[in-house]
Amino acid sequence: MAMISPLSVQKIIDAARIEDVLSDFMTLKKRGSNYIGNCPFHNEKTPSFSVSPAKGIYKCFGCGVSGTSVSFLMEHEQFSYPDALRFLAKKFHIEIEEIESSKESKELQTQIDSLYIVLQYAMQKMESNLWETDEGKAVGYSYLRERGFSDAVIKKFNLGYCLNDWQKFTDEAIKSGYTMDNLVKAGLTKIGENQQYRDFL
Ligand SMILES: [Zn+2]
Repeated sequence: MAMISPLSVQKIIDAARIEDVLSDFMTLKKRGSNYIGNCPFHNEKTPSFSVSPAKGIYKCFGCGVSGTSVSFLMEHEQFSYPDALRFLAKKFHIEIEEIESSKESKELQTQIDSLYIVLQYAMQKMESNLWETDEGKAVGYSYLRERGFSDAVIKKFNLGYCLNDWQKFTDEAIKSGYTMDNLVKAGLTKIGENQQYRDFL
């Protein structure tokens, strides 16, 4: 069984300019360094869907969806993760290197891919907590600034903030379609006695 080599995956992700990918499926208008458009995931007349070419992510301030080029294709076009990568490789003329894999390593790769996706999701959540919530700004952001981190550094290293709440992250992740199994495997959620779960980040 063949799979896309990790190096190819990285090349594809580096080459896939998010604004070019999303423009195939929706209309985007430039606003400052970002793009905005009507959200393709919910009905709206005024655009609340924002795309950041610098970060390679999109976010809708109306319905809360967010993600990368890959997750956009998976959610909007119902592509599998490898199909989304193949689509992007074709679009951006990246040659895919395939490697042979056994059934076991294929399963492992699928597992790694879904963990990667859930971790990406967590990172974006924590970042938006830091920049967009009152608690994040008051506690997280001011702490980082006190430690001498500039805005540029905070953004470059995707620093974020976890809200002081036991289950909010897990609840929202599950609502967005991530499974408890993957959240636990990624180390983002812990299940204790009595099946009580809590955020672990
Ligand atoms: Zn939306």
